Amino acid sequence: MSQESFYAANEAEMLALGASFAARFSAGDLVLLTGDLGAGKTTLVRGLLSALGVDPDEVRSPTFSLIQQYETNPPVLHADLYRVANTRGIGLEDYFDSHLCLVEWPDRGEWAPPVYRIQITWEGEGRRVELRTE
Ligand code: ADP
Ligand code: MG
Repeated sequence: MSQESFYAANEAEMLALGASFAARFSAGDLVLLTGDLGAGKTTLVRGLLSALGVDPDEVRSPTFSLIQQYETNPPVLHADLYRVANTRGIGLEDYFDSHLCLVEWPDRGEWAPPVYRIQITWEGEGRRVELRTE
């Protein structure tokens, strides 16, 4: 298990941090993003997707659609489980092997290691971002 800590002072730095994370992950990786509403989970995902060539303005939080896929390299699945009681029936498993899966509100489900966990908390005017593997 390893842990790294980052600080993003504003939204632009959060997008840049997300972009810098893109090279760390590949298809088949599962990344669980935790943090309260407004912490910056989706902002981080937008930054990561921008590094894969997706216009950040095109990235919508899949709060209602639950999942959104991007045919990038690697392909990305972005899930937002805020509105679900549990993950049964969503079909997330179908993407685990083929996609880099980025999951907001992962407390709705159970996940088999190995997973990356990204935890975002408020710190001063910005955010503390902790990345750990388990
Ligand atoms: P979440 O997906 O965690 O609910 P969002 O990314 O949708 O959060 O929204 C986060 C809000 O906080 C946005 O208004 C964004 O501009 C702002 N924000 C994101 N990152 C930072 C940061 N590092 N410092 C300050 N504000 C930020
Ligand atoms: Mg979000």
